[in-house]
Amino acid sequence: MTGPRALGTALGSIVGAGDVLSDVQTTAAFSSDATGTWRGSARCVVLPATADELAAVVTELASRDVAYVVQGGNTGLVAGATPLGGEVVVSTRRLSGVDSLDAPRREMRVRAGTPLAEVQRVAAAAGLELAVDLAARDAATIGGLVATDAAGARSLRHGRMGAQLLEVDVVLPEGVLVRGLEVQSRAATRATGADRGRYENLARFVAGSEGTLGTVTSARVRLVPRLDARATALVAVARVADAVELAARARRSLTSLDAMELVESDAVELVAEAAASHPPLAGTALVLLECAAAVSPRRELASFLEDVDEVRGVLVATDATARAQLWSWRRDVPAALASVGGHALDVGVPLARVPELLVRVRAALAALVPGSRLVAFGRLGVGALHLHVVGAAAGRTAVDAAIARAVVELGGDVAGEHGVGRAKAVLLERGCGEAPPEPARELKAVLDPRNLANPGVPALRGGAGRRRC
Ligand SMILES: Cc1cc2nc3c(=O)[nH]c(=O)nc-3n(C[C@H](O)[C@H](O)[C@H](O)COP(=O)(O)OP(=O)(O)OC[C@H]3O[C@@H](n4cnc5c(N)ncnc54)[C@H](O)[C@@H]3O)c2cc1C
Repeated sequence: MTGPRALGTALGSIVGAGDVLSDVQTTAAFSSDATGTWRGSARCVVLPATADELAAVVTELASRDVAYVVQGGNTGLVAGATPLGGEVVVSTRRLSGVDSLDAPRREMRVRAGTPLAEVQRVAAAAGLELAVDLAARDAATIGGLVATDAAGARSLRHGRMGAQLLEVDVVLPEGVLVRGLEVQSRAATRATGADRGRYENLARFVAGSEGTLGTVTSARVRLVPRLDARATALVAVARVADAVELAARARRSLTSLDAMELVESDAVELVAEAAASHPPLAGTALVLLECAAAVSPRRELASFLEDVDEVRGVLVATDATARAQLWSWRRDVPAALASVGGHALDVGVPLARVPELLVRVRAALAALVPGSRLVAFGRLGVGALHLHVVGAAAGRTAVDAAIARAVVELGGDVAGEHGVGRAKAVLLERGCGEAPPEPARELKAVLDPRNLANPGVPALRGGAGRRRC
């Protein structure tokens, strides 16, 4: 039995016929990414409810030489979970729920398909939270966060998702379920001999592997205390270089610093236009700083800002409503940009190189597509920038290649915050990236010699494997 019906019947015998979806209308929702730009066609969508079912599904697919794409909440922005090659979609949506919360140890064990919002809801009841939080929290899953090594506003303080990960269970690309893979100690608890070395590398690269090394079925994650005393400042600066200087100083001296974002004035103006209001402060860019502590960090933040020469204007808030108002100048940028069109590339670059990157990208745009423009914003604390290009649809390929080259030359990487997925794979294929480290390549070759797991995604960028372009 090799046809689609035979495959559907086999998968249905594992998960139940109702959890194998094959009609085009139902599978359409699983076949494009969150940007709506990338559309594929799933051969079928299969929804296992347990790790054992998922392992059996993958074993079945491997026995038939069928490639598959792992999908969590499908909120990814780089088509990492999109079946562009007609793959089977293995969805973790039914593999959901918090298995245990150990409040004294600040740890939670959670199934991979659990939405981030659910994790935060359960953790909050114990005065805790997962340190990585993002706007797509209602749908984005723990498995997706791990696979993309997601970053959020607070990654500046606590690191990306990989830094929150203590242990994972993973179904390897050919269907073997490995339980208890300790990430922090980089060892598999039950593995011995050759397997041990292999699993140590799997633990090392699983965060950021974007589904290419297997499917995470469960994770033990660390939690941090919720800090509800917060102070937020919106600071206007005259130059992006001043924003960088301010950010570097804030990192050195503000012990309660929790988030730090950059919004260039073009983006501020778009947000103001969309809200029919005016920019809150005059300047080339705004820096949003947020401090969080057990007791109000307002004084620490205010005295820091008094000493900083780069400040051209400042608004400070401590109550939730006023803070949300300040955050809206950052939070509403993507929606405002959606109304003007264009395309975005998110990249990572060392903080000190941010001004130079923006200068270079603007010069490249002027040369390649006169009349186009760059709108930049992002997480200043971790050097993750969203570069939104307006008016360069015709020259997109050349523009993206020029941006990628500038990023690499300045010591950054194109994986940025959202990963490589299929959307940025083309940049790597053009040879503007470094090869992943040897152990990561070996691991992929050994675990997935037929390249069945997320075949269109080249990323092996977790930990030391972060790929550059
Ligand atoms: C409004 C909005 C805001 C966002 N903000 C941020 C942000 O601040 N920071 C950020 O980093 N990202 C952000 N994103 C992108 C996205 O939310 C993250 O990449 C998130 O981690 C994806 O989770 P997901 O469950 O939706 O994964 P999916 O989109 O389903 O998949 C993403 C990748 O992970 C793989 N994958 C999914 N589940 C598993 C699993 N169980 N095992 C192995 N591989 C798996 C997929 O194959 C794919 O390669 C945002 C997206 C939106 C729509």
